[in-house]
Parts: sequence; structure tokens; C-alpha cells
Amino acid sequence: MKPAPFVYHAPTSLGAALMLKAEHGDEAKFLAGGQSLIPAMNFRIANPALLVDVNKLAALDYIHVVAGELRIGALTRVQRLEHDPLVRAHWPLLPETVPHIAHPQIRNRSTVGGSLAHADPAAELPVILTALGGRLRLQSSTGERWVGADDFFVSLFTTAIATDEMLVEVAIPAAPARTGTAFMEVARRHGDYAMLGVAVVVTLDAAGACSAARLIFLNAGDRPMNAQRAAAALLGQLPGSAAIEAAASSATEELEPMGSVHATPAYQRHLARVLARRALRLAVQRAN
Ligand SMILES: Cc1cc2nc3c(=O)[nH]c(=O)nc-3n(C[C@H](O)[C@H](O)[C@H](O)COP(=O)(O)OP(=O)(O)OC[C@H]3O[C@@H](n4cnc5c(N)ncnc54)[C@H](O)[C@@H]3O)c2cc1C
Repeated sequence: MKPAPFVYHAPTSLGAALMLKAEHGDEAKFLAGGQSLIPAMNFRIANPALLVDVNKLAALDYIHVVAGELRIGALTRVQRLEHDPLVRAHWPLLPETVPHIAHPQIRNRSTVGGSLAHADPAAELPVILTALGGRLRLQSSTGERWVGADDFFVSLFTTAIATDEMLVEVAIPAAPARTGTAFMEVARRHGDYAMLGVAVVVTLDAAGACSAARLIFLNAGDRPMNAQRAAAALLGQLPGSAAIEAAASSATEELEPMGSVHATPAYQRHLARVLARRALRLAVQRAN
């Protein structure tokens, strides 16, 4: 398999990369880890006339905290999220989830920015970022803007990134006290894209009642799917077995998974209910 001919640039500054994108628009694509783009080019699903290789933009490879908020540069390799001590200590949902993403060799190459910009509804990072209430910084040669994860993922492989913009940074807020998180998915083999998965975030108040909840599903629609009715059903409740079962049932009803050769929509709904129940139990246990 070989890609169609293309022109290749590897700029050494963000400004130069953004100028190339502004000049060539949709004809140009950023090359980050290449783990999704290169196969797509080899299969001729993507045929960019120009590749803007951003791997020399080392300034976009970082993990640090600004005013209590986790900041991750777009060029940070996915594997780093599993081992970074800061992330492990304060955002445990990330290291819990990363081992489910492909295989170590792929995670060593693939970038946080590439995974989010690719916007595969079966990918893990978009779901985690949405569950944690993250936001994304988009930069062009003329300015920058922040977009919340809820608005960033538009549909299948489609995001809010404009033609002349690049995703440069991701921010994830610190979790309030008594917050528990959990991620679960079912894949046919370890490292495969999952048939369905869920990320859960639960916050409890002083009395142990649920004061905030989010259940975000992967591979259950055309983007990270937010089971809002299920989350609303938990608010104000002591999250015992009955409340958790009711929320898991509600999530199943509001999702419309599309099915695939590996799983029918009915089986995906079954997975949604079982995984939501288990992930909620675990998140509540951790919040306690
Ligand atoms: C065998 C295999 C199994 C995989 N399994 C999984 C899995 O289980 N879960 C999962 O989530 N992923 C999986 N992946 C995908 C992998 O994680 C990809 O690497 C990732 O989705 C894309 O990241 P990348 O850095 O390689 O991006 P690239 O492939 O370089 O780019 C992907 C797309 O994003 C654009 N892009 C890249 N960076 C930016 C940026 N900063 N701003 C704007 N646009 C940008 C590119 O132009 C391109 O359109 C798998 C890949 C392989 C090959």
C-alpha cells in the first residue's frame, strides 16, 4: 500500500506550521504520530497534497499544572500519560485508561493532539477529556481560542478545528473533593478498538449524596456520547445499588449505538448497562 504523491514540510516553529496551514487549508494535513493518518493515506482514504510534519515542535511536548489545571501539549505522546507522576497522583482516570489504547509501540508514537483531532468515536482520549470537563486550545496564524470538549467533538472524525487552526494544548480541571472516577471497556482482544466503553465521574457531598455525575460512552454514537439523563437521575441520591441500577438502565435507553461487524446495537446496549453499573459502583467506592 502506498500513498498518493504529496509534498512534505517539517517546520521548526509553530508560526511556520500555522502559516503553511493558513496558506494551503484543507489540502494540508498535520502529521503528528502518524498512527492514524499514515494508514489512511496508504489506503487512499486521506489524500493530502501537503503534509506538515509537526514532530519538530518540541515546545508542544509537555505536561504541567497551571493554577491547579492540568495542561498537556498537543505533541505529548499518549504513553506519557500512563507514567507521569503528576497525572497519576491527581488525574488517575488518565493512567487507568491509557493501557486500553492500542499497544505500547503505538502509544509511544501517537500524540494526545492527534488522538483528539482524529475524533474517532471509538477512541478513549476524547471520552476521557469529555468526562473530565476538559477544554482544548486551538491556534491559527491570526489568534487562538479555547473550546470545551462538549463542543469540540462534532461528529464522526469531525471536530470544531477550523481549516487554518491547529490543536496546541489541552486543559483538564482539578477534580473537586470526594470525586471518584472509573473507566471500563470491552474489546475482542486487548489493544483492539473497544466494542463499547464508559468513563464515569462521580462527586459526593458531605452527606454522601451525589452532587455531580458524568457518564460518557465510547463507540455508542458518532462522538463521545454523554448519557445526561442517567447522570441527572443520580443527582441528590445516595448512590446505592438501586440508584446505580436505575442510572445504568437510563443510560442504555438514551444511547443509540450504531453496531458493527463485531457487535450488534442490542449487544452494545447490554454492554452499556453492565459497564455503566460496574463503573459507577467503582467510582462511588473511590469517591468514598
Ligand atoms: C493498530 C492500531 C490500533 C489502534 N488502537 C487504538 C485504540 O484502541 N484506541 C485509540 O484511541 N486509538 C487507537 N489507535 C489510533 C492511535 O491512537 C492514533 O495514533 C491516534 O488516534 C492519532 O494520533 P497520532 O498522533 O498518530 O495522529 P496522526 O495519525 O498523525 O493524525 C491523525 C489526524 O489528526 C490530525 N492532527 C494531528 N495532530 C493534530 C493537531 N495537533 N492539530 C490538528 N490536527 C492534528 C492529522 O492531520 C490527522 O488528520 C490505533 C492505531 C493503530 C495503528
